[in-house]
Amino acid sequence: MFSMNAPKKGMKWTNWSGNVKAAPDYYHFPKSVSDIQDIVNSCRIRGVSLRVTGAAHSFSPVAKPESDALSLANLRGLISYDYEAMEARLWGGTHLHEAAPMLASIGMAFENMGDIQEQTIAGAVSTGTHGTGIALGSLSSQVVAWSWIDGKGEVQHHRRDQSDLSKALSLSLGMLGILLDVTIKTVPLYSLQMKSYQSTVEAALAEWSAGHHNNRHMEWFYFPGTDTVQVKKTNIIPLHKQTLQSKTVDLMKNGLIENAGFKVISEICRVKPSMSRKLTAVSAKSVPNGSKKGIYYEVFPSPRLVKFTETEYAIPLHTFKACIQEIHAFLRAHPFYVHFPIECRVTAGEDAFLSPTQGEETAFIAFHMYKGMDAEPYFKWVHNLMGKYSGRPHFGKVNDLTNDKLQKLYPNVQRFMEIREQYDPNGVFMTKYLKSIFST
Ligand SMILES: Cc1cc2nc3c(=O)[nH]c(=O)nc-3n(C[C@H](O)[C@H](O)[C@H](O)COP(=O)(O)OP(=O)(O)OC[C@H]3O[C@@H](n4cnc5c(N)ncnc54)[C@H](O)[C@@H]3O)c2cc1C
Repeated sequence: MFSMNAPKKGMKWTNWSGNVKAAPDYYHFPKSVSDIQDIVNSCRIRGVSLRVTGAAHSFSPVAKPESDALSLANLRGLISYDYEAMEARLWGGTHLHEAAPMLASIGMAFENMGDIQEQTIAGAVSTGTHGTGIALGSLSSQVVAWSWIDGKGEVQHHRRDQSDLSKALSLSLGMLGILLDVTIKTVPLYSLQMKSYQSTVEAALAEWSAGHHNNRHMEWFYFPGTDTVQVKKTNIIPLHKQTLQSKTVDLMKNGLIENAGFKVISEICRVKPSMSRKLTAVSAKSVPNGSKKGIYYEVFPSPRLVKFTETEYAIPLHTFKACIQEIHAFLRAHPFYVHFPIECRVTAGEDAFLSPTQGEETAFIAFHMYKGMDAEPYFKWVHNLMGKYSGRPHFGKVNDLTNDKLQKLYPNVQRFMEIREQYDPNGVFMTKYLKSIFST
């Protein structure tokens, strides 16, 4: 008999940047918790892996399905909220661009966000998606309770405490099970003003530390090989929502015109990579001195219409100056064809076993390459350099992690794997990629 829940066969999957592709045997779109339990049980009995796909915005193969793929596209939205505790429970498949306005309608807000809002909440918390802010953690750190279906098909609930289970669940890459919903600790709805200006490496470095402590958020875009840094400082202002007119102007200016201009530059670099150096200088010169304000989710994320691949590393904050100086000194000789700026952000330390921060205040440095250009030599250099600074890669971004490296960088990975084994003894959620890094 025809079933509305029948999995799709032969449906292809690709991530946003197109560098990871898959053709799972079955793609499931469950409509209920019991549907998901049936799918997990079927995969366990058939001895095949099951991978949840979020919004496919990871650059690494963490979300790459093999035999069976599952999407929570039918399980989205706000489940409940508690004003007194300032907590909101969201279905795992909810995209951030859906969640933020839903929370705003009840006066609540995410404490922090990254630079896009396309991700699903479950995908974002599973990989430790972060923004910037020395006193602020990642989206994973904002979760106070999780509900998930483990590898035995059982529904589990856990509220954050000091336990090892909390530290494992906080950033789990889907290895403990399928996150049905998460409860987020929210803050009252707020607005932000972001100010952007052009600086030099020396001047920006001189105010690096104070900049982080005197602003809620600060980030840099360093133009490789030039002396230019775009500095963005963002702070809370009284509630201010963009008007339709300012939203349209913003979309035209920051969204369409800037993206279109950058796309042209990127295409020239792709066709003639030797132009990268000149065009990086052109982009650097056009850094705007300006500002933008609105509800927080109107300010944090920007449309990313120019596709790229990315690698990103977390290094101890106190090593940032030495690291960026080394990067600047090396890139001045223009050894790579790259024109995308390098993004530098900071976060508070987090205690999740797989957090790239490993409890320390951290600087995140992200390196991008336009889709269609050869990222390999550049990223190889980044991977090597970051080794010198004890860099831990963002699991959702391109990396060269091996089991050996993981063991060195994450002292509690064994404990994480013991907990994983407890919830998924048959390895339903382990793909070849995850096994290559996490299995001992
Ligand atoms: C343009 C762009 C900008 C980005 N900006 C940032 C940024 O500012 N900061 C940052 O830190 N990262 C950033 N990222 C990376 C991105 O936030 C993460 O890779 C995030 O995980 C993507 O979410 P997703 O919903 O697409 O998840 P996917 O990439 O689809 O999946 C990520 C992981 O989560 C697992 N997963 C998904 N749903 C579930 C579930 N319900 N239960 C269990 N496991 C699940 C998947 O199996 C996979 O292991 C960016 C990526 C892009 C493409």
